[in-house]
Amino acid sequence: NIEEIDSVYSYTELEAVSSSFNKMLIKAKKLEGGRQEFVSNVSHELKTPMTSMKVLADSLLSQPDASVEMYREFLTDINNEIEREDKIINDLLSLVKFDRKTGTINVKPTDLNELLEQILKRLRPIAVKNHVELIFESFRAVTAEVDEVKLSLALSNLIENAIKYNKEDGWVRVSLNADHKFFFVKVVDSGIGIPEEFQDQIFERFYRVDKARSRGTGGTGLGLSITKNVVMMHHGEIRLYSKEDDGTTFTVRIPLSYIPPKPHTAKKKGG
Ligand code: ADP
Repeated sequence: NIEEIDSVYSYTELEAVSSSFNKMLIKAKKLEGGRQEFVSNVSHELKTPMTSMKVLADSLLSQPDASVEMYREFLTDINNEIEREDKIINDLLSLVKFDRKTGTINVKPTDLNELLEQILKRLRPIAVKNHVELIFESFRAVTAEVDEVKLSLALSNLIENAIKYNKEDGWVRVSLNADHKFFFVKVVDSGIGIPEEFQDQIFERFYRVDKARSRGTGGTGLGLSITKNVVMMHHGEIRLYSKEDDGTTFTVRIPLSYIPPKPHTAKKKGG
């Protein structure tokens, strides 16, 4: 009986549609919740330096006979808050630009030894200031199709964290290796480590294990989410191994040849 088959078919189909609609609804609700949380986090993070600046400016203005030294001191503090605000805005812009789904990627063959040497040269003064030894180990020449600017920022974040969350007289070892398909960058530090219960959240936007310490070191809590986005844009993988008080290792694995995303082809109706 064709009618019977037809109605059974429609029913199953209806059920499938209803179930996928439900899944979509759950996803949309989650996304909306995530979006609201993100907006509220952004507002909070941007407001904090503003509040400090306002307090600093108000207290200076309320003292009619403030000395030049006092002006200097307060203006230095205001300047630091402006720098912080600037860093948060830059990180947020990077996050938007480096979105895996909407961001554009500009890949070209890149010498990774050179890229890492440049990053380390830029970060060396920070390492010296923190009394941390910065070591680079390269196991071979590697050229890969990557977005130089984005990858540079992603790896800088990892290495800068390894320096920031280290201990006095600690070390950071960065290594580069490759096989016939992938290249591997490993960042190992002798630092404070990340307790296991926080390791899942570490890549979330604005997440910081120790907010006070992170703020003190100029952190925004956006660095690792930017890094993860960049690795994902390159179809790579990032992993973390850490033990509280016993150092942290981040490993990044990215294909040597860039895999372009499949073009969207409109689904044919029927058939
Ligand atoms: P932040 O700007 O706070 O450094 P990130 O997104 O880069 O933000 O890192 C998130 C948090 O992960 C940091 O606040 C810190 O608590 C922790 N973290 C990141 N890297 C390390 C590391 N190498 N050692 C210990 N903790 C780390």
